[in-house]
Amino acid sequence: MIIGKVHPAAGHYGISIESQPNVRYRCPCCHHPTLETRGHFEICELCNWEDDGQDDPYADEVWGGPNYLYSLTQARHNFTDHLNQYDTDDPYCDDDNDATRGAKRRLMAIFDAIENNTDEEVREALWHDALNAEKALRVERNKRFGDRAWFDARGQQWLAYRERKQPGYLARREKSIAIWRARHPRKGDS
Ligand SMILES: [Zn+2]
Repeated sequence: MIIGKVHPAAGHYGISIESQPNVRYRCPCCHHPTLETRGHFEICELCNWEDDGQDDPYADEVWGGPNYLYSLTQARHNFTDHLNQYDTDDPYCDDDNDATRGAKRRLMAIFDAIENNTDEEVREALWHDALNAEKALRVERNKRFGDRAWFDARGQQWLAYRERKQPGYLARREKSIAIWRARHPRKGDS
């Protein structure tokens, strides 16, 4: 496995690098080699950043796409602070608990060892460890997402959080849902 280089001009909206066998790219947020593509809306399993193509030249901008209210700069700061792109009062930060944070730290330690090692054989063995550590992290996360009641409650908390950050959001959301419903009537609607 090698860590692919991204052209310095990367970061323009529309950056697109397809996956190739045994190549990983650094996540623009946490800088760990978690991504198999660039600009293809992969979600980083370490920091949760969704790779919409944003990178250094536009890091301070809030694009409002899959990363919602977060600039890349803010998301990086949050990851450095608590291993997650989201603010600590954002319900999405609940994705993590002690078990997931522990699994993240183990994976990050292996990535650091890969970066600091020049011996190809040692690096390949470390990549093997990294893939296993990624699986372990996924298992911990799936335990959280498998809990439907927790999942629904988090959705409600998220709406309240977004209304606090962007007053009027709920009203705008209701309006667009009403428009959508009117255009897509379901059986039984009168
Ligand atoms: Zn990341």
